[in-house]
Amino acid sequence: FEALAEAMYKMTSAIMKFAPYGVFALIIPVVAVNGPKVLLPLLKVIVVVYLGCILHAALIYSGTLKIFANYSPIKFFKTVAPASIFAFTTASSSSTLPLTMKSAEDMGVPKSIASFVIPLGATINMDGTALYQGVCAFFIAQVYGLDLTIGQQLTVILTATLASIGTAGVPGAGLVMLTMVLQSVGLPLEGLALIAGIDRVLDMARTSLNITGDAACAVIVAATEKELIVDAPNEKEITA
Ligand code: ASP
Repeated sequence: FEALAEAMYKMTSAIMKFAPYGVFALIIPVVAVNGPKVLLPLLKVIVVVYLGCILHAALIYSGTLKIFANYSPIKFFKTVAPASIFAFTTASSSSTLPLTMKSAEDMGVPKSIASFVIPLGATINMDGTALYQGVCAFFIAQVYGLDLTIGQQLTVILTATLASIGTAGVPGAGLVMLTMVLQSVGLPLEGLALIAGIDRVLDMARTSLNITGDAACAVIVAATEKELIVDAPNEKEITA
């Protein structure tokens, strides 16, 4: 797993080095054909992705934590904050792994559960990435004036979920996997050029949501296994 992640990281880093030049070359024809007005909606994409991430954390994570683990969402978000902020700045679930594990343990998740659920989650559980890929696919369809049928919209949901599972926990990986989502419904791949310019900003939010989801899952798994340590010593320190 580690060797594969390292190889993926090296490959993505190499691609990302050339990305600014590639993005510039790709974005020129898109703007030339559609006019500079296509750049304004990018702000909307950023707002929608950020809002989506906040709503997902506030509604889905809080709700599932309360229902399945009877765990206070406020306590959860307070304890997971250092890991979420680290993920926000590094845009990498993999490099946030030690911090995510620590926050799960601080919340009372036993090491045996945290060390299984969190690394697994860091590779396959990426709600933020799926959300971002869905938003981007619909945005690209709108820019090109293509109407997606209900069937195509469902395909976007399905492929975005699958693509997010296959996405590596390194910066920019979600953008590479977005090609799969676009191809599944026949959207033009050139649309990626528009997203690439703002991808880092979106990556920060989605990675933060990704690792917050991993921590929430760990708490829920520990609770359903009846192994969640209530009043974990570290937890008291943090919430005190
Ligand atoms: N950067 C994300 C992560 O590490 C993956 C992605 O690009 O969506 O979680």
